[in-house]
Amino acid sequence: MGREIVIVGAGVIGLDTALLLAERGHGSHITVVAEHLPGDTSINYTSPWAGANFSAISGGDTNALRWDKLGYESMMKLAEERGVEACIAKTQSLEYWDKMPPRTKIDSMAGYLRDFKILPPSEIPAGCQFGISFTTITVNAPRYIQYLHNLLKDKYGVTFIRQKLSKISAAFSSPSTRIVFNCTGNGARVLEGVQDAKSYPTRGQILLTKAPQISKNVMRHGEDYETYIIPRPQSNGNVILGGFMQKGVSTGDTFSSESESILQRTTALLPELVEGGMEVLAAFSGLRPSREGGARVERTDIQLDGTKSRTLVHNYGAGGTGFQAGLGMAQDAIRTVENELSKLSLKGSRL
Ligand SMILES: Cc1cc2nc3c(=O)[nH]c(=O)nc-3n(C[C@H](O)[C@H](O)[C@H](O)COP(=O)(O)OP(=O)(O)OC[C@H]3O[C@@H](n4cnc5c(N)ncnc54)[C@H](O)[C@@H]3O)c2cc1C
Repeated sequence: MGREIVIVGAGVIGLDTALLLAERGHGSHITVVAEHLPGDTSINYTSPWAGANFSAISGGDTNALRWDKLGYESMMKLAEERGVEACIAKTQSLEYWDKMPPRTKIDSMAGYLRDFKILPPSEIPAGCQFGISFTTITVNAPRYIQYLHNLLKDKYGVTFIRQKLSKISAAFSSPSTRIVFNCTGNGARVLEGVQDAKSYPTRGQILLTKAPQISKNVMRHGEDYETYIIPRPQSNGNVILGGFMQKGVSTGDTFSSESESILQRTTALLPELVEGGMEVLAAFSGLRPSREGGARVERTDIQLDGTKSRTLVHNYGAGGTGFQAGLGMAQDAIRTVENELSKLSLKGSRL
């Protein structure tokens, strides 16, 4: 028991996938295998470095729009039912664009975001062409993944194993394993049996600050930059300032010139940051697991040493949206194996 479902990866994508499976009664069938677990920090583990919020930073293709909508609805429910324990909060958000965003993107968001409003020109900063206001979700990223880790272990009986796999087929090492979910983020570029050449990192540097007077989320989308201010829930007044979207850059170093750029842009966007007093606590950098064409949420069959084929579901490449879209991506990933899951449930109920 316990290895019928193996999830490779304990970032937000693996944990969100485990959560939805566990809520359907599969907790005791699941083992999560990962090189890094919540509580760890590494440049090869993106989730602890995220802002994090729900925003319009995501792509405009059909999949991205659907995952955002599903993710927003699920995260909103989580915020309302378990916001304090999960370290997620409903927060007012203002987003501005230097150039008009695509109409399809705005129409999609207008259809489900709570309190959605297009701002009049008088309420938009100089140099911006468009702005919206809505209720967003803000997430304390390191604490949210820690919350999921504890919940999955303690309430649902999910097993966690720290292990680095050299090839994806190693996830099927137990004869009882029926389904493997590949949630390896940037690891998908190098993991034997996956080696996805479309995967690439998008580096971001952020500042962790203390500015308890800030309670709203503000973002400005430029052609070649993103500026954002995200109050961090359950953190005693911490605020994340960003940022950068550096395609193909993979250093985990931080740079003082980038910190200065972040401070200059965020204080210009939201002067209350300095007016109310702000302390810079630390600079971090992280690598968003991006992918040409968008995230890969796809079922494939894998042939192992001449035996019959097994089921492998890929769920990686969330880029800058793993927290906002993760529960949506997990729903799609799980939908591809409904048939196999129903057999597991029957087997489990007879034991
Ligand atoms: C600066 C910054 C700001 C961000 N802000 C936001 C935001 O505001 N909102 C938002 O939604 N998203 C945001 N993101 C993006 C978000 O952090 C990512 O989309 C998300 O963390 C990706 O999660 P993941 O589970 O795919 O990858 P990861 O968190 O990297 O997890 C991958 C897991 O796979 C494991 N793994 C990999 N290879 C192997 C192997 N061979 N064997 C065993 N285990 C393996 C790792 O150890 C790890 O457990 C931000 C990211 C950055 C860097």
